[in-house]
Amino acid sequence: MGGHGWRCEGKDEWGLRADVPAGRGCGRLLGFTLVELLVVIAIIAVLAAMLLPALMGARRAAWRSGCVNNQRQLGLAWTMYAGDHGERLPLNGYGSEAELGERRLWVMGNTHLDPQGFTNGAWLLDPRRASFATYVTAAGTYRCPADRSRVEIGGRMFPKVRSYALNMAMNGSVPDPWVHLGGRRLFEKAGDVSAAGPSGLITFVDVAPGNVCHAAFIVHRGFFTDLFYHLPSAGHGVQGVNTFADGHVEARRWLDARTLEEARPEWMPDHWTIYHPGSMDLRWLREHAYGADVR
Ligand SMILES: [Zn+2]
Ligand SMILES: [Zn+2]
Repeated sequence: MGGHGWRCEGKDEWGLRADVPAGRGCGRLLGFTLVELLVVIAIIAVLAAMLLPALMGARRAAWRSGCVNNQRQLGLAWTMYAGDHGERLPLNGYGSEAELGERRLWVMGNTHLDPQGFTNGAWLLDPRRASFATYVTAAGTYRCPADRSRVEIGGRMFPKVRSYALNMAMNGSVPDPWVHLGGRRLFEKAGDVSAAGPSGLITFVDVAPGNVCHAAFIVHRGFFTDLFYHLPSAGHGVQGVNTFADGHVEARRWLDARTLEEARPEWMPDHWTIYHPGSMDLRWLREHAYGADVR
């Protein structure tokens, strides 16, 4: 073997012409034969196939706890705002800067009408535009880690800055509550919420990527009850994550296959096509947006 370097007689570097018994002689010198190499590759492939779902699962769990964390902070800001403003809940709804005038919503969002709402962090963090700016100073708090959606503006793709919206029934006074709530029950003060049972009422909703839109999350009632105005996210497996008025944050497993299907697309062209007659998820949202006794 001397002088042959790593090559040896009777065998090329791939071990295809092996005439030396395995485990002896130059077979060891060569390191791996092709068969051994294939076996190692196969073992790695099997290990990867076993580990990947576990890794994906760990990543999903991390995303979900990030989402829960974000919403805990939003829920806290919502409570603190009321405490600082004579029990009045933060103003909610949607409108352009001109329409809002002096009024400040918790954050600005009018995204389908003004794409800036998808990308402009100042709509969340500038105290002149967002009443939450005093309480939430990190832009990341507004984005669910599982929401990887982007928006195309002028031929370029941008990540969206916000994944959450606030239940319109929670002081959604802009525009006039007649527009979406039929002028009926609206929670304006912390006391209204306490009386209705805060642990069963949603505040912040993780929104489906295609439905991130107004600062308010609108759930139809009355005439349009089989229609989603906004879809909740199903970005955590088959679950979304929502905050309740008592501050607790909970994952919600959506039950209707149609909800899961429609929650996936990154873009929804309008708010009038997601018609799901008899949807259990719509019913759940309605009961938790307004209270169990409301149709
Ligand atoms: Zn989320
Ligand atoms: Zn919209």
